[in-house]
Amino acid sequence: DELSRKLDVIITKDVLPQEQLETEIIWKSPHAAQGDDGVFAKLADADIVAEMGEGLYAVGGLFGKVMFGLDRRLHELAVQEFDADSFHYPTLISTETLRRAGYMSAFPQFLMTASRFHSDVDTYDSFTSGIAASEDIGKHIEEHSEHIGYCLPPAVCYHVYEHLSGSSLDKKSIAVTTRGKTFRFEARYRRSLERLWEFTMREVVFFGDRNSVVEQRRRMVSAVCDLVEELGLAGRLEVANDPFFLNEQVADYVQVQRVMELKYELCLPVKAGRSVAAGSFNVHGDRFGSVFGISDADGGTAHTACVGFGLERFAYAVFCQHGADPGAWPDALKALVSSHGNGAAGEPDVEKG
Ligand code: ATP
Ligand code: ZN
Ligand code: MG
Repeated sequence: DELSRKLDVIITKDVLPQEQLETEIIWKSPHAAQGDDGVFAKLADADIVAEMGEGLYAVGGLFGKVMFGLDRRLHELAVQEFDADSFHYPTLISTETLRRAGYMSAFPQFLMTASRFHSDVDTYDSFTSGIAASEDIGKHIEEHSEHIGYCLPPAVCYHVYEHLSGSSLDKKSIAVTTRGKTFRFEARYRRSLERLWEFTMREVVFFGDRNSVVEQRRRMVSAVCDLVEELGLAGRLEVANDPFFLNEQVADYVQVQRVMELKYELCLPVKAGRSVAAGSFNVHGDRFGSVFGISDADGGTAHTACVGFGLERFAYAVFCQHGADPGAWPDALKALVSSHGNGAAGEPDVEKG
């Protein structure tokens, strides 16, 4: 626990004053941030956001419409502009997949795992008879349970690498898009949707040779910056690095990541002097192609890139910037919530263009 508290401080970069971080800005929206500091209270009063536990929130109504309106646009972009295949994956991800991907050594601090009871009658007997008397139900569960070989996914792109493992691309480049629940055991944030334990991620994952993957990321960056501008949002695109568990190897990698611009973040202001990343655009070289045995159309090891958006965080930034009263919103934002009526349950549904 002591360690996890230290890690929260070391690793969570937004506890550092933002001026201390050297950032290279690639793009800046022409819109100025307006800002509504009391937005969480307004969302809670309107009963469209409710706290369900640490880092866990229920969202609905207009908040859900903004979240899934954003998702619909991102999904449309992936399918129509990048010919992406759209998949729904199971929530659980194989532990072996996360190990192969290197997630476990790079980010142990975030990982949440799935367990179940030892499968024998004695366990069930001992467990059920102890439930009422157990002072610490968590400990009681732990004593009777074991890991099942699956984890809660920290991002949704890992499903895609596993799905395509051992395959060869039949085209110069391909894209896959998916949306799912993601889980990270993060520093505690109360009364804010900036940093959650469970959130919803839309990702677009690109596979191809080096040049086409880099080009796809460039096109995706440009399309998303256009969308941010269209919606009247203030924001900027920056060179970033991942919040790795710090050890010597990784410390070097952070430098490599920044110098080679492997990660860009779309940062949206949420209050004066403070922004959050609503999305990231990452290139991985041939790391995942190699680990998962994916080859490009010429038989070389495929390169990959992934672009991920935290939908709760993205929607929260929209409300922080434009307030909770849709009457005062820019037209494009009004259109985002009025053009479909499914609210939080809405599944995107688009044809390939
Ligand atoms: P941050 O630097 O803010 O921790 P990250 O680099 O960990 O973000 P990525 O791994 O790039 O984030 O994930 C893609 C996107 O998922 C982020 O840009 C953000 O919008 C969203 N996201 C990441 N962590 C959280 C979280 N704990 N709660 C809500 N959204 C999140
Ligand atoms: Zn990803
Ligand atoms: Mg993070």
